[in-house]
Amino acid sequence: MSSYFAGDPAAQRAADLTKAASDAAPGGLELVRRFVNTIELPNGPDELDSLEKARAWCLSHGLAPPRNGAHLEQLRAFRETLRDLLFANNGEGDAPGAWVRMQPFLASTRLSLAVNPMSGLELKPEDKGPIASLLAVVYESQLLGAWARLRACRKPSCRFAYYDSTKNASRAWCSMATCGNQAKAKRRRERERQR
Ligand SMILES: [Zn+2]
Repeated sequence: MSSYFAGDPAAQRAADLTKAASDAAPGGLELVRRFVNTIELPNGPDELDSLEKARAWCLSHGLAPPRNGAHLEQLRAFRETLRDLLFANNGEGDAPGAWVRMQPFLASTRLSLAVNPMSGLELKPEDKGPIASLLAVVYESQLLGAWARLRACRKPSCRFAYYDSTKNASRAWCSMATCGNQAKAKRRRERERQR
């Protein structure tokens, strides 16, 4: 029996979009989620693996592009520190340690309070780097209470970023069909071994 979507790319695309929408974060936080997912772990394609690609990605997402190779390296390290924080949001790893590792990235950026006549005070990046813009979004999402729901999949080799929009904030996996079931099967095997 062929797949339900076989020969119907439009239906496949619609299904993919539904899946993507269910992972999406509200407002500007979606940009942070997409940034963390620019690499498909453990060894999938990486949209930040060259200066040219990273510039294109940043520009197409409304961010200032990295200036040079060193800046790109910093951006890639920033991405993994963000991922550590999202992993901690999922109850894994060490959140205080990851926040400490975030500190050097702040030293390289400038953010300040600005007045937005429509909404009051807001944090504004003073330099045009992508890190400052992303940090401002993280800060804002903490105030709004959305940050804690931005998570990295609990499977260490996956750690795909998704927004947990379940009622009781209990979603631990990017996909129950893949990572969730693998984890369950592994726990079952371990239990059986212990008998
Ligand atoms: Zn996963």
